[in-house]
Amino acid sequence: MNQPPRHLLQIEGLHPPQIAAMLNVAESYVLLNRSGKTQRDLLRGRTLINLFFEDSTRTRTSFELAGKRLGADVINMSVSTSSVNKGETLLDTAATLNAMHCDLLVVRHDQSGAPALLAQKVDAAVINAGDGTHEHPTQALLDALTIRRRRGRLEGLVVAICGDILHSRVARSNIHLLTTMGSQVRVIGPPTLIPPEAERLGVTVFHDMQRGLEGADIVMALRLQKERMARGLVPSAREFFRFYGLDAAKLAWAKPDALVMHPGPMNRGVEIDSAVADDPAHSVIREQVEMGVAVRMAVLDLLSRRSRRND
Ligand code: ASP
Repeated sequence: MNQPPRHLLQIEGLHPPQIAAMLNVAESYVLLNRSGKTQRDLLRGRTLINLFFEDSTRTRTSFELAGKRLGADVINMSVSTSSVNKGETLLDTAATLNAMHCDLLVVRHDQSGAPALLAQKVDAAVINAGDGTHEHPTQALLDALTIRRRRGRLEGLVVAICGDILHSRVARSNIHLLTTMGSQVRVIGPPTLIPPEAERLGVTVFHDMQRGLEGADIVMALRLQKERMARGLVPSAREFFRFYGLDAAKLAWAKPDALVMHPGPMNRGVEIDSAVADDPAHSVIREQVEMGVAVRMAVLDLLSRRSRRND
């Protein structure tokens, strides 16, 4: 039950012991990174390719750092999707990567399901680094690690995820992970930004920030994903901030020691106020970035264990 999966394509379907095992390994990498020691022998001779069809700052860099800290050869490929037939390109790319004998393939794509398609075509272990509006599994793992280190558990916590839930792969992965691990998840946003199937995912839906935030242990703010909006789903950024932007007055509705999280990139003054984002009494946004490296080291380590055993 706690066997690592062959690929990491989504959180949905993972069992609590598998998630806990990944978080435990990640925890050991937090300590290793803080001690300044390295483990460069672990992935020596392995090739990690970062294949990003969409922009990224934190995710791409932290996978690169994670791979290098474990001794892998890391190659970054940024690919533009603007003018090409995506299905064909993806399969051509898969054939090329296979010929290069890549061991670990980290993929970000604007189409949901693209990493899963690649996983069927390549020999490498594939890690989804965010696909369309579907999932972003390593983000949910790093969020869970941040929460677990701060609160000592995931079970029984009230987690409020606020803003553009409809387009957010981060929200989807977090909902799967947190509900699987026994947290109570609430989503808060205007009706236009809540997916119709939200309640089937085991969350409680709120359209009012005050009601949704009352008693919350964790408040997660999400970016308005304008690039995924076919039409204006919010009247204006100013209006959105007035009702759903996380500022000190709204945060006061949550528990007094509530943690504030954001996956980045932040739009200050739209979904979160700078005073809250930078408040060390609540904000763990920078810690999330630190946990991102440890989680990605753990995922690379665990997924390559199978092939290391076959050496
Ligand atoms: N960085 C996250 C993602 O790739 C969140 C965001 O872009 O708003 O999904």
